Amino acid sequence: ENINPRSILSRMKPYTPGKPIWEVQREFGLTSVTKLASNENPLGPSPLALEAIQTYLSDIHRYPDAETVNLREAIAEKRRFSPEQVLVTNGGDELITLLSETYLEPGDEVIVPSPTFSEYEFGANLLGASIISVPLGENYRYEVEAILEAVTERTKMLYICSPNNPTGTYMTKTDLHRLVKSLPSHVLVIFDGAYSHFVTADDYCDGLALVREGYPVVVLQTFSKIYGLAGIRVGYGIADAGILQRIRQVKEPFNVNTLAQVGAAAALKDDQHLEATRTNNVKVREELYTELRTLAIPFTPSMSNFVLVDLGTQAKSIYDNLMSRGVIVRYGGGWNLPNHVRISIGTYEENAVLVQALKEIM
Ligand code: PMP
Repeated sequence: ENINPRSILSRMKPYTPGKPIWEVQREFGLTSVTKLASNENPLGPSPLALEAIQTYLSDIHRYPDAETVNLREAIAEKRRFSPEQVLVTNGGDELITLLSETYLEPGDEVIVPSPTFSEYEFGANLLGASIISVPLGENYRYEVEAILEAVTERTKMLYICSPNNPTGTYMTKTDLHRLVKSLPSHVLVIFDGAYSHFVTADDYCDGLALVREGYPVVVLQTFSKIYGLAGIRVGYGIADAGILQRIRQVKEPFNVNTLAQVGAAAALKDDQHLEATRTNNVKVREELYTELRTLAIPFTPSMSNFVLVDLGTQAKSIYDNLMSRGVIVRYGGGWNLPNHVRISIGTYEENAVLVQALKEIM
């Protein structure tokens, strides 16, 4: 009791992820639960990943490769970079923390167009940097001018999440290039492409071209979403080799476990699974739009595997009601969107369960 907690603890806000299926089963005494809360792959993991993981199960008495050589080479080949331009992490989340630990100090400013993914704020708070929140524009569009106006000589980082979680909106290629090329060189851009593989828009840019052109941009990618490996925690960054070398100085040696390394490398080869996931996403998302229109529920058209839905002032009670029926979605309160929920795109059947529950409630 004589131990004083560090001041950082007073800055840290609780993180409330989508409830796990087992918890909702236990809480409401349900057997069948539909989770559409964490933007996971409804088709499951790639069969190639499962096979690789099974093969390496007998190897788990060995430490993993601290340098993640095979996986980095596989990623580098796939995305046409050198292995030195790839850093593998324990989920994209760890990359955000590592970037913060490497680059941020008290007094620094981190620009975050909002609402967006809460980990950016977590990383800044952890190091005592200040969050400069720039509201997204009409229909949650990115506004380049507003972002540029927020830049000061203290700005260390700028996060661009595109497609953005939770809105599903994206920054156009023209805007992204204009933004990055207008920034002073002391601003590191973190382009979060966690959902980039879902985008079908022609005017989208996944940020990689900017890394190739030598701009101070780190592109975050994850195996948790389209690759269906959220449970084994693996993501990566693509950036200038010097930037990644600095981050390696603070990372734990064995941050990515063996099963994650081999599973991710195998998933990367499974173009068929990727394509099937993409096709399901477009089809079921369209189906959800149709049903929401029938129910006169407004939503933001999405380029991702989730949709931000406006349920009005009843949103929290509808969310609770859905939960009690075993349908887990994400409530918007944490994003300061108390009238909204974010619904992940599931299978056709999961979506039908959600829609049926909404029809019964509303
Ligand atoms: N970025 C965004 C925008 C996300 O939504 C997520 C997952 N919620 C991540 C990064 C990190 O994902 P993970 O740590 O599972 O790789």
